Amino acid sequence: MLDADFFRRWMTATAASVEREADRLTALDSPIGDADHGSNLRRGFAAVTATLEKEAPDTPGGVLTVSGRQLISTVGGASGPLYGTLLRRTGKALGDAAEVSEAEFATAFRTGVEAVMTLGGAAPGDKTMIDALLPAVDALGDGFGAARTAAEQGALATTPLQARKGRASYLGERSIGHQDPGATSAALLVAALTEAHG
Ligand code: ADP
Ligand code: MG
Ligand code: MG
Repeated sequence: MLDADFFRRWMTATAASVEREADRLTALDSPIGDADHGSNLRRGFAAVTATLEKEAPDTPGGVLTVSGRQLISTVGGASGPLYGTLLRRTGKALGDAAEVSEAEFATAFRTGVEAVMTLGGAAPGDKTMIDALLPAVDALGDGFGAARTAAEQGALATTPLQARKGRASYLGERSIGHQDPGATSAALLVAALTEAHG
C-alpha cells in the first residue's frame, strides 16, 4: 500500500531530479521553445517541497492536491497549469483514504492524465508531455519500473514528431528533430515513482 509518506517522497524525488536536470530541460526548450522549462519546474517543485513541509498533509490525496495547487500558483508557463492539473486531479481521484493500492493509484493517475488532455487539448503524437504520460499510465499495471521505461521511451520518441500543441507548434516542421522538453520532464516525474518506492 502507498501512504502519504510515499507521495511526499515522490514529490521530493521529483524536485531533486528536476533540480539535477534543470539545465538540460531548459536546453531542450531552447530550439523549440523559450528556454525556460527547467527554471519553470525548478521553481515549481521547490515550492511544492517547501509547502509539503509546512502543511504536512496526511493523506495521499492531500499531498497531491496541495502539490498541484502549488505548481499552478508558482509556474507561469504552460507546464504549471498542466502538471498542476495532473497532480490535483490525481489527488482528487484518490479521495481521503489514508493508504491506496498501486492499482488505485494507476486508475487515479489515468484520471489526472485525461484531465491534462482535456485542459491542453493534446492527443498522443502531438509532441507534448502526453507522449510520456500516457504510455506510463498504460504500463503502470506492470509496476513503476515498467511505467518508467515506457515514459522514457515515449519522451525519446517525440524527437521525430512535429509539434501540434504548445509553443513548439509555432515552428511547424522546424519542430521536427528535437526532443520535447515537457515529455522529458514527465519521464523524470514517472521515474521518481521508482525512487519513492525504494
Ligand atoms: P512555456 O511553453 O509556456 O514556456 P514550459 O516551457 O514550461 O512552458 O513547458 C513546455 C512544455 O509544455 C512542452 O514541451 C510540452 O510538453 C508541454 N505543453 C505545452 N502545451 C501543451 C498542451 N497543450 N498539452 C500538453 N502539454 C503541453
Ligand atoms: Mg518554455
Ligand atoms: Mg515560457
